[in-house]
Amino acid sequence: MNNHLEIDLNNLSTLLERTKQVSDQYLNEIDKRPPATAYIKKGNLKISEQGLGAEKTLDLFLDRYGNHMPASNGPRFWGLVTGGTTPASLLGDWLTSAYDLNLSHAGNSLAPDIEMEAISMLRELFGLPASFSGTFVTGATMSNFAGLAIAREWIGRQHGKSVSQDGLHAIPPVKILSAEAHASSFKSLGMLGLGRNFLKVIPKLPENREAVDVVELRKALEETNSEPCIVIANAGTVNTVDFDDIRAIAAMKSEFKFWLHVDAAFGGFAACSPKFKHLLKGIEHADSITIDAHKWLNVPYDAAMIFTQHRDLQIAVFQNSGAYLGAIAEPVDFIHLGPENSRRMRALPAWFSLMAYGREGYQDIVERNCAMAENLGKKISASNEFRLLAPVRMNVVCFTLNGDVDAEKVKNFLAKLRDNGRVFMTPTTYLGTPGIRAAISNWRTENKDVEIAWQAMLDCAQ
Ligand SMILES: *Cc1c(COP(=O)(O)O)cnc(C)c1O
Repeated sequence: MNNHLEIDLNNLSTLLERTKQVSDQYLNEIDKRPPATAYIKKGNLKISEQGLGAEKTLDLFLDRYGNHMPASNGPRFWGLVTGGTTPASLLGDWLTSAYDLNLSHAGNSLAPDIEMEAISMLRELFGLPASFSGTFVTGATMSNFAGLAIAREWIGRQHGKSVSQDGLHAIPPVKILSAEAHASSFKSLGMLGLGRNFLKVIPKLPENREAVDVVELRKALEETNSEPCIVIANAGTVNTVDFDDIRAIAAMKSEFKFWLHVDAAFGGFAACSPKFKHLLKGIEHADSITIDAHKWLNVPYDAAMIFTQHRDLQIAVFQNSGAYLGAIAEPVDFIHLGPENSRRMRALPAWFSLMAYGREGYQDIVERNCAMAENLGKKISASNEFRLLAPVRMNVVCFTLNGDVDAEKVKNFLAKLRDNGRVFMTPTTYLGTPGIRAAISNWRTENKDVEIAWQAMLDCAQ
């Protein structure tokens, strides 16, 4: 055995103990570290011929990166839609790497059982009927990709073809209809050969809404002349957390032939709260649903789920049958259900967190985050420095600087705010106005954090 490997093997307990200390220190300082740091250019490292061994590598890492790690996992990283890591999910993630199980097949490990159990608990958390099967993927982008891939197969079947067997050549171009599809849906359409340009943008409701105008959607469906198509409904838009009327969209399935994919990447967590649950009415009629785990479930990157009521089509798309892999039988191996072949035991952090905090834990995270966003929204409305661009509907505050605002001013303010080291937010454009999003999705965020962030915002607006 290589010398370094042998030393590390004999020294494993000490190495793990040191790594625990590093993690512990970081997590204890998370309140004080800046949430984000600007990109710092570093000189290149070369591959080491003999290697350093784990201990020296850890020292090098800490010096080069670790000691400067920002607290994007902390209570005041409000950029994009960023969750954090609940204590229990961190245990699950650590153990996932310690066990290093490959999830692809049942019959030689316990990993598939854990994923099936986690999926079943998540289905309950989101109030989905048992007709939905679920699979973990790396993120909502891959979840949208998988949902739209199954949709593509369904479209093929409407034409008496199988796209996964015969290719897209076998069917006419497919229309995709959506009012405010996330960038990742366009990306998925690109990867699937359906084409980004084939997404027809449907007008939204008037009066500062991002939800689809269902009357306009109906017109677009009428224009399809009974050609089967795909509707992407949005359950939580990234700028203002607006929800399409899923029930009204689903009701049109009796008249028109379409696959209903719901992108509920973070809005799906409305299901955790009696206050917000009504926003998802009708979601049980979806053909496929995207929900992210590394956002509001607060498990570490990277994890999301794809749910579908058409597992037969899912298998048709993702089947991976080689002589050495065996035939497809119940319980269907995950290798036949998603884009990956081998993959990590991605469900274990979610399993831990769901068991540890239960329904009430997630209700608390969702409602507390939304209350914090509401609180920030009120401060903004009452201030001279800022103004809201849209009502605060859930956990995202979409606002801008008061007065004449342009993209440059927003950019400068956000850079100043980041370097000030107390809170981090990201830019957007809303109804043509350059703006700012504060998305509060971390389990740690409390009132004191809103106070700290608000003071930083006032200081930087000067
Ligand atoms: C974040 C997000 C995505 C993409 O998610 P990733 O996990 O970053 O791949 C897709 N849709 C919506 C609505 C999102 O908020």
